[in-house]
Amino acid sequence: MFGCASAAIFMQFEARGVSFSVNFCSHCGSAELCWTVPPGDNRPRHVCSACKTVFYANPKIVAGCIPQWNDTVLLCKRAIEPRHGYWTLPAGFMEKAETTIEAAVRETLEEANARVEVVDLYTVFNIPHTSQVYMMFRAKLTDLDFSPGAESLECGLYREDQIPWGELAFPTILHTLKFYFEDRKRGDFPLRSGDIVGDRNRAIFALRRRAVIP
Ligand SMILES: [Zn+2]
Repeated sequence: MFGCASAAIFMQFEARGVSFSVNFCSHCGSAELCWTVPPGDNRPRHVCSACKTVFYANPKIVAGCIPQWNDTVLLCKRAIEPRHGYWTLPAGFMEKAETTIEAAVRETLEEANARVEVVDLYTVFNIPHTSQVYMMFRAKLTDLDFSPGAESLECGLYREDQIPWGELAFPTILHTLKFYFEDRKRGDFPLRSGDIVGDRNRAIFALRRRAVIP
């Protein structure tokens, strides 16, 4: 399948986790797929040799909530891989025709049967090596009638000193919670953004304050 690209180009993009597996053309059904740089493009894509359809793969958005109730937040213990048995904030992949807020609210309902009112966007994390962007929203629980959804083993409300810090599922969740409790002490929640990079999940942060309108 990769015979159409030069080895150098292939290795450069493979190292960055850009390639992905495609077996058949979803347009014409041909198995003759080529990993090559299409005319006028600047990077390799899967291209059908039969009908010339180009397959573009772009990053996925994960949207979620930090559901707040007094000095606690709602966490879910994952019942699914990856990171089965580890704790997370309710979050998941956006569906087509959704807004990011709709996705965050839906994931909170699906994973914790919890209803929220979204306050504001709070963290944006780029994860280039998995081609994901996390967008986490601050939100208020509207009631305490929550329970584990199909993708959760359990869920509950946790104060900062009760958070299972060593058993969080993903670096994005760890850093979102760290920022949240830090900012909560000051009563100010600027938009926090950063990049989670490399195999060791090194984090690089940029702090973006809201624009001040005179
Ligand atoms: Zn085709």
